[in-house]
Amino acid sequence: MPNMMPKDFTQLQDMVNATFTYSPVAISISRRVDGHMVDVNHRWCELMGFAREEVVGKGAVSLGIWKDTATRDLAMQQVHEAGAVGHESYKPFVVIPYTRRDGRAVVLQMQGSIIRIEGVEHLVSYTSDVTDRDAAQKVLRDSEQALQRVNDELASQMELYMLTESLARVGHWTVSQDDTRPRWSAGLFDLAGFPRDTDLSYPVARSRIHPDDFSAFVSARERMDGTTLEYRWDNPQHGQRWMRSRMRRHLKADGTFVDIGVVQDFTREQLAKLALQEQLSMIQRMTSRVPEMVFQFLKHSPELGEFVFVSDAVNELFKLTPQQVMSDQRTLFRRVHPDDLDDLLKSMAVSALDGMTWAHEFRVQWPDGTVRSMFGKSISVLESNGQIVAYGSVTDITDHKASQVSMRESEARFRALTQLSSDWYWEQNAEFRYVRFDGELVGQAGRSGPGSMGKTRWEVGALNMSAQDWATHRAVLEAHAEFRELELQDVDHHGRSFWMSISGAPIFDADGSFKGYRGVGRDITARKRADEKIERLAFYDVLTGLPNRRLLLDRLQLALATSARDHSAGALLFIDLDNFKDLNDTQGHDVGDSLLQQVAYRLIACVREVDTVARLGGDEFVVMLQSLGGDIAVAIAQAEMVGKKLLTQLNQTYVLGKLEHHSTPSIGVAMFRDQQQSVDELLKQADLAMYESKSAGRNTLRFFDPAMQALVAERTALEADLRQGLKRNELVVYYQPVVDVHSQVVGAEALVRWQHPAHGLVQPDRFISMAEQTGLILPLGDFVLETACNQLALWSMHGSTAELTIAVNVSARQFKHPDFVQHVLALLKKTNAQAHLLKLELTESMLLGDTLDAVAKMADLRKHGVKFSLDDFGTGYSSLSYLKLLPLEQLKIDQSFVRDVLSDPNDAAIARTVLALGKSLGLAVVAEGVETQGQREFLVEAGCKWFQGYLFGKPAPIDQFKFQCPES
Ligand code: C2E
Ligand code: CA
Ligand code: CA
Repeated sequence: MPNMMPKDFTQLQDMVNATFTYSPVAISISRRVDGHMVDVNHRWCELMGFAREEVVGKGAVSLGIWKDTATRDLAMQQVHEAGAVGHESYKPFVVIPYTRRDGRAVVLQMQGSIIRIEGVEHLVSYTSDVTDRDAAQKVLRDSEQALQRVNDELASQMELYMLTESLARVGHWTVSQDDTRPRWSAGLFDLAGFPRDTDLSYPVARSRIHPDDFSAFVSARERMDGTTLEYRWDNPQHGQRWMRSRMRRHLKADGTFVDIGVVQDFTREQLAKLALQEQLSMIQRMTSRVPEMVFQFLKHSPELGEFVFVSDAVNELFKLTPQQVMSDQRTLFRRVHPDDLDDLLKSMAVSALDGMTWAHEFRVQWPDGTVRSMFGKSISVLESNGQIVAYGSVTDITDHKASQVSMRESEARFRALTQLSSDWYWEQNAEFRYVRFDGELVGQAGRSGPGSMGKTRWEVGALNMSAQDWATHRAVLEAHAEFRELELQDVDHHGRSFWMSISGAPIFDADGSFKGYRGVGRDITARKRADEKIERLAFYDVLTGLPNRRLLLDRLQLALATSARDHSAGALLFIDLDNFKDLNDTQGHDVGDSLLQQVAYRLIACVREVDTVARLGGDEFVVMLQSLGGDIAVAIAQAEMVGKKLLTQLNQTYVLGKLEHHSTPSIGVAMFRDQQQSVDELLKQADLAMYESKSAGRNTLRFFDPAMQALVAERTALEADLRQGLKRNELVVYYQPVVDVHSQVVGAEALVRWQHPAHGLVQPDRFISMAEQTGLILPLGDFVLETACNQLALWSMHGSTAELTIAVNVSARQFKHPDFVQHVLALLKKTNAQAHLLKLELTESMLLGDTLDAVAKMADLRKHGVKFSLDDFGTGYSSLSYLKLLPLEQLKIDQSFVRDVLSDPNDAAIARTVLALGKSLGLAVVAEGVETQGQREFLVEAGCKWFQGYLFGKPAPIDQFKFQCPES
């Protein structure tokens, strides 16, 4: 039954009213109890030959419709009974002969329903004139099959509507034996869409049968055996219609026959059927590719029923065709695993009511023995025809179940891993904030686990990470890159430091958008400690804590490379303790170890931070000195100095428990510069040098290179010599005149010489730097200063020489001596020299460093009249700022500029600049090293007023000092 319930009752009422009034079916409504007419429609009036006004309110018998009450009651009884029994499949009807008021006898077919209107039983009768249509009986029956018993008001009104619709689509034709053309009823003209006055011939009558259906029609017409024929009809007004016709030959009493055909337009039914077929095939098509088996199950009993529809997937799931299942549902249930069938049927029974859902998991066994897991679900719906239908699906979940199992297993494995190992699992969201931790760490209070939730890693912080380190890490995260073994150090709540190593990878969801990070963390504290220990073991000597041979070789390699780059020399000192074996053998290893530890300690104390002290093993140590400067001679001197210091220190008495022990070392030195030798060679050289010192009687120092060794020997000899020379008064002071523009001698510079008994006159170049390094410069400087002061005192006694000044060179070491000022003042006093005639020559480098101290010293002496001259001006830093600061009296243009003043424009410019500078600062400028008249003239021209050089006089002993210069 088509579902076409109107939207609301009012609308339905209107529709029913209209249907009632204008229906082509005659309808009457009468009270059941007494047959009083309540209402009749237009068609009824027409059929029965009454006007509505005549009928309403009257009894049917009094109207003459029925002969008498008995006839009426019988008819009513029949109608009522027909209505009462005909509820299942079709509605029977009663056929009543009736004579109209106009005398025409007709055969009426009546059908009725009892309905309640305002609580009172009424009979609704549908009457049609079947006088010529007794053969249509069957057709009508068919058409009425759709009608159901009227048992409530609404449904009856609905059916009334349906009935009138369908009845309106029936027509018939008759052909008597002697007719040459068919006779059509009015209804058939309407169905065919022909005007009622159409002149019918067979060709016309059949003209609009669809060509494809024509032969079937003709053969049915010839047979006239009552079969139902369906054919298409081209209705001139409505286009193609579907007709159903039943034709039968009716033999009359007179021996002739009449052919009767009842025609019904079933287009609507057909279209609905086609639409349904189309829908079904669409559903079939749609579901054919769905891996789930979609079904429609009509329930006959709680457990059983039939499959109205099963999609193609049944092939895959049950190894059955849809046809097999739809024709016999038991085939499908036979596939259910025997152990699961009972539960399946029970579950179906539970959900057999309207609106219930069913969901059940069960196994299926295929003919080949394979067992698969299925999951079925459905919903039961009460259809309008009163049947319960389940709509649902069955899915093969075998693979899904397997993956679930493996997922559960991997989850369990993961849990076991994180719980059993010291690793933990972490997750961060897209803002890099911790959102999850699993594993060991969670249980460890104080370590960054739960406390870090919601924080970023840098908010949690780490001891070993600088802001720059974090920025680098964040850049990695922001690039969504993987990172491995980020090592973080932190402190737990006991204040103990621990290390962890974090690795992570970005998380992306299915469409590729970034979701955050996940990864693992690991406590690597133990490993870190072990690493440190291993490093110590690998690179450091356990006993002394000094770098071992391996680390020394590394550093030496690096030192050689550095030396090659900055051309700064270095030295390798190989130290071996003399007779160490004896101590070890007599006093035991503990004592020996103790000695070695003390030696190590002393060695470290002797060198600078940048130097390396290593223990090669046994009683062998190595000291590596670096950055000793570009001057190899100076470097050698320094290496020697350190070597001697080591000798001295290691010679001090050791206290080893109760034992006081004296030990000596033998030291071998190898110098290196510019990576001329390999690390191994170098070590060998130092080692050889060490054996040299052993064979030289131990407790001594030897350089590897013979030339170096010679140099060192010479220097050592020189030093000892100078010490002797000072004692024996071999040092003399020479004087070199300083003259003015008129070549008048205005003073002299005191320059020391060494009158060596064997080597003759030795120039200061040879011994001043050595004296500086050895500290001999102090007594030497004293001697020169005292000699100069004595000379001043002598000169002051003669008018011609009373105003001559003497310049004395002061070395850095002298000047930096804390008692320098006191010392100078004491000498002046002692010698009775006039302070204002004494000039102290300083060099720029001496004033660097502690400038304030230098200025203070100068100022102090200035107060007493002592003047200062800045020697070798132009070769140093020449910073104007400190030049102004210093209480100077004069500048000396370095002789290197003067030498080339005529040939080198640069030097000329410098000379001029120094002169201009002196002038502007109010300082006297002395040009040194003037050897030619040309140089002098240039300098005079440039404004120079004071000169010194061979042109005016070479440094000479005081008795040869020239007070008058020949050039003047
Ligand atoms: P200096 O202070 O620059 O001394 C000037 C040097 O130039 C002297 O060399 C002198 O002999 C040399 N000289 C002077 N006129 C000429 C010339 O026309 N041509 C050339 N070619 N040379 C000239 P000397 O005497 O050999 O002294 C060298 C350096 O030794 C001095 O350089 C000074 O720095 C240092 N010195 C000399 N005596 C002493 C001293 O008593 N104490 C200290 N601390 N250093 C001294
Ligand atoms: Ca000088
Ligand atoms: Ca000089």
